[in-house]
This record gives sequence, C-alpha cells and structure tokens, in this order.
Amino acid sequence: MKRIYLDYAATTPTHPEVMRAMLPYFTESFGNPSSIHSYGQEAKDAVERARSKVAALIGAKGEEIVFTGSGTEADNFAVKGVALSRLAKGNHIITSLIEHHAVLETCKFLEKQGFSITYLPVDGYGMVDPNNVKKAITKKTILISIMHANNECGTIEPLAEIGNIAREAEIYFHTDAVQTAGRIPLHVDNSNIDLISMSAHKLYGPKGVGALYIRKGTRISSFMHGGNQERGRRASTENVPGIVGFGKAAEIAEKEMLEEAQKLTALRGRLIEGILTGIEYTQLNGHPVKRLPNNVNVSINYVEGESVLLNLDLDGICASTGSACSSEDLEPSHVLMAMGLTHLQAHTSVRFTLGKWTTEEEINKVLEVLPGIVSKLRAMSPLMKTAN
Ligand code: PLP
Repeated sequence: MKRIYLDYAATTPTHPEVMRAMLPYFTESFGNPSSIHSYGQEAKDAVERARSKVAALIGAKGEEIVFTGSGTEADNFAVKGVALSRLAKGNHIITSLIEHHAVLETCKFLEKQGFSITYLPVDGYGMVDPNNVKKAITKKTILISIMHANNECGTIEPLAEIGNIAREAEIYFHTDAVQTAGRIPLHVDNSNIDLISMSAHKLYGPKGVGALYIRKGTRISSFMHGGNQERGRRASTENVPGIVGFGKAAEIAEKEMLEEAQKLTALRGRLIEGILTGIEYTQLNGHPVKRLPNNVNVSINYVEGESVLLNLDLDGICASTGSACSSEDLEPSHVLMAMGLTHLQAHTSVRFTLGKWTTEEEINKVLEVLPGIVSKLRAMSPLMKTAN
C-alpha cells in the first residue's frame, strides 16, 4: 500500500538535493571546522556558506545566526540566555499559553529559579491580543516570547504589532518560528524581532540541527561553554553535514516558498471544506484565514482523535492529533484547551499537515476514507448515542 504522509508539521522528509549537498561532508570533506589545515578550512567554509543561506531566509546577516542542535535548543537558548544576561534589569518574562513545550517548560524551569512569568491567554482562534502584551509589561520585563505560528492549530500570531510594542518598551522580543521559517515569509526588520528559533527538519532539512537568530547587539548568555565555536555562544564541534543540509534547505525554501504556500493553501482549503461539509458535527480549530498554508486541524465530535488516527493509518494515511511530542500522552492539547475547547472536544481533534509533495489525489483519498471511518466509530460511540 502506498502511504500518504500528512504530518509535515511533525517533520518533513529530507529533500534529495539537501541529501546530495550533505553527503560529501560525511566522507571526503569530513574535517573539523576548528582545524587550521585544509580539511578544517573546507568544513569551515561550508558552515559559513550555510550560515549565510539561513540568514538570507529571514533577512538577517550571517554573523547573527548561531547553529544549535534543534529548534528546542534554540528556544532554550533564547529564553534562558536572555533571562541570565538581563538579571540586573529584571526577572519578568511574557509568553503565551499556546507556546511549544520547548518555551513553556523553559519558562516553568525559570519560574522555579525565581523568575516571574506571565502566560497570556489566546482567543478562540488561538490568537494572542497585542493589547494584552502591552498590559502585561512591567518595569521588570526583560523578554517577550510569542511564537510566529502555532504548530497545532496553525494560527499565525500578530508579530508586527507585538514587535512594535516590544521595541517601544525596549524589551527583547523572541519568536519561535520553527513552523514558519521556510513556509511563510518572515523578515527580521518587519517585526522588530531580536531572536528567532528555527529548525532544519521542518523545512526539508535534516533532524538534529536548528538555529537561533540573534540580532546584532542583543545581550544574551552563551548556551554551552567550552570551545570558541559559534563565536563562543554555543561550544561544541559543529554538525557540519547537518548545517550544510540546513543551508541547502534554506536556499531551496527561499526560492520555492511562495509557490509552495499557494499550492498548499488551495489543497488545505479543499481538505477543510471537504471535511466540514462531508462529515456532520465537525469544526475547524484555529483561524480560518490567518493560518499556516499547510495546516488543517479539525474536531470531529463524538469520536476520539486517536481512534481516527489509528483507522487512517490502516488505510496508509499518516496524520496526528496535535503536536508530535504530545501525540503519545493522553492529556488534552494545552493549545486547544487555551482556545476554550472542552476536554471532550480537544480529544476529538485531528491534525493534517501538508507539504511539498502532497498531491490532490492524496487529499481526495482522505476525503474518500474519512467519512466511513467516522461513521464506523460513531456507531460505537456512547457519546454519539447520548447526543442523538
Ligand atoms: N517549536 C515549535 C513550534 C515546534 O513545532 C517544534 C517541533 O515540533 C519545536 C519548537 C521543536 O523543534 P525540534 O523538533 O527541532 O526540537
């Protein structure tokens, strides 16, 4: 059976061109960028070329990019790095209830160390209100961290407005752009952003490599101490093949992003409409327009999301109930709960995320099999019987 992959928000397949670009750095060009001989210099040049490409994707300069081991690490670096470096100014951080665990758990950790964190609410679409950001600012606020777009519901946050507020108040602004870098345009100057987290495996690059954009002049503590790699900000021998792959993925994304977004928006629309009109008691989660071009998150009332997923998988269709990290636990999504869904509704959510190689035929196949799966599950559902 040919499988259909609709979980591109969890991870993407590595682009064949990315693979090709990486391969020599495992074999003939295996040098350590810190070595002064030709092997080392070859590797160093490759890392620097990749740095420029990743920087170009967001309108930054190469020297403002620090490579990390993942998007999670970039988030940890941004939040802890600013927290430690700004202690003399204050200990208050503003974030939102719908951030990825990489930000939320870091904030919770800092809370235990004496920091004070404001977790802003969101509206029914998963949108942060910039006025609430403004109201939450105190004299002790050192960082605002609001994600660019949410990985579960796909809602795109009002970064420009929040960036203006942060700039006016002279507070650092970090955004987790792991789901958006390479998917939708993001330019450091348009939104007054000081720190941006990215991850290669979400944009057809390899796993295990991410980046943090740090605006020139931003005061931030080093994340790992040791050698002088990454200008002393993140010690450890660079993952050269991974970084080269990230650079290639960024270069491809810069060229193909707009066309891909257009294609995916059309397929997304078709899938949403097909589900909402073809299956009773369904609703879209997240903003109808201000949403990632590849995200479809629906609540299919009276059935459990996990049961739908398992049945889809039997038909070769791979989707998700929410973020990749929470798919395995049974807690309802913190994002959907923050948007005001009940426990029951949150448990009925299914997320399809589309990507570069998604076709109309694949979407048609989902629309063909999903109604049957839902009818079968509802026929067994005590909740459906109570509703009728
Ligand atoms: N932030 C967001 C919004 C994400 O969606 C993810 C991964 O799903 C991460 C951070 C973590 O990225 P990584 O898998 O590279 O650690």
